[in-house]
Amino acid sequence: MKIERIEAIPYSIPYTHPLRFASGEVHAAEHVLIRVHTDEGLVGTADAPPRPYTYGETQASIIAVVRDIFGPQLAGLDPLDREKAQQIMRRTIHNDTAKGAVDIALWDLIGQSLGTPVHQLLGGYADGMRVSHMLGFRPAAELLEEAQRFREQYGITTFKLKTGRRPLGLDVEAVHVLREGLGEEVEIYLDANRGWTANEALEVLRRTEGMGLTALEEPCDASEALSRRRLVQHSAIPIVGDESVPTPGDVSRELLSGGCNAICIKTARSGFTQATEILGLCTGLGVDVTMGNQIDTQIGSLATVTFGAAHEASQRRAGELSNFLDMADDLLAEPLVIRDGVIRVRETAGVGAVIDEDKLARYRQD
Ligand SMILES: [Mg+2]
Repeated sequence: MKIERIEAIPYSIPYTHPLRFASGEVHAAEHVLIRVHTDEGLVGTADAPPRPYTYGETQASIIAVVRDIFGPQLAGLDPLDREKAQQIMRRTIHNDTAKGAVDIALWDLIGQSLGTPVHQLLGGYADGMRVSHMLGFRPAAELLEEAQRFREQYGITTFKLKTGRRPLGLDVEAVHVLREGLGEEVEIYLDANRGWTANEALEVLRRTEGMGLTALEEPCDASEALSRRRLVQHSAIPIVGDESVPTPGDVSRELLSGGCNAICIKTARSGFTQATEILGLCTGLGVDVTMGNQIDTQIGSLATVTFGAAHEASQRRAGELSNFLDMADDLLAEPLVIRDGVIRVRETAGVGAVIDEDKLARYRQD
C-alpha cells in the first residue's frame, strides 16, 4: 500500500454562537479536511483546525504546507512506515496541526488496511471516555444554568471553566456560583489561557481555596519562568501546560524546569504518534494528563476519544470532547453521541470518521 496523494480541503461551518476566550474569539469553524489517498483506494481522514492565535497556522498555511510540502514528500510511502513519515514531516518546523492531521489520517489508513479499530491498535484500554464540558466567558448565573442543563441533558459531571479575565473577581465569583449551584459531586477545573500573570493566578487560587478545584491550566505565559515556577511550587492543585507544550520537546522543557506539573494532550496538534510520545513522557515522570480540545469538530473529537480511551492514563480524567455541540452542523456522517456523560469509540476498521459527502459539498470553500 502506497500513499498516492493528500487532499487538503478548506471548509466553513458556523457556530451556533460566538466562542470567546482570553486568547481570542471565533464565529465559524473554518477548518481543513485532510484526506490521504492510497493506491489501493483507501482514504484516511482527519481534521486540521487552524488556530492562528495559538500556533500561528491559518487555513491557507495548512493547505499550502500539505499541498506543497507534505503531499509530494510523503507520496510513495507505505502508511505503515509511520516513523519515516514522522521524520519527513519533522524536516519542516512548526505546522503542528497540519502534521497532526496527516498523522491521524495515516493511522486511519493503517487501521482500515488491517481491518482493526485504531483505538485497539493504540492500546485498546477502554471503550469510551467521560466528557468534560467547557464553559466560556459569560455571567456566572448563565454559566450555572448551562452546566445544570448539560448535566441534565448529557449526564456530564465535569466542567472546565474558561478564566483569565480581569478583574479577577469575575472568575472567582463564577467558581463560587458554580460550586454552590452544582454541589460537591461535580468536578470543576480552570483554564486561563495565559490571561493572568503568575502572581494573579496565585491570588485566584487563594480566593478559591476550599472550592474543590482539581486543576489550573495555562494560568500565565510560560515565559514568566521564575514566577510560574513559584506558582507551581505553591499551588495545592496541578498546574497544567497546554499551549506552552505542543511538542514532546516542549513537554520535557516545561516539566523539567518546573513550569507545570500536568500536561494537556491534544491530538489535533500532536497526531497519535507524538501524543503517544508525550503520554509516555508524562507517565514516565509521574504527572497527570488531560485530553484537551482544540475547539474540535466531531471528526477531531472522535480522534481525541480514539487516543484517549486507548490508554489507562489518558482516560482517568474526563476528556474535553463537547465543543462540537456549539457547531450548527458537522461533516461526520454518523454523529457523535454523548450518553450518560460518555462518548464511545467506534468499533469499525480505522478511526471511523466517515464523511457525509453532501455536507462536504455544501461547506467546502474551494
Ligand atoms: Mg487550554
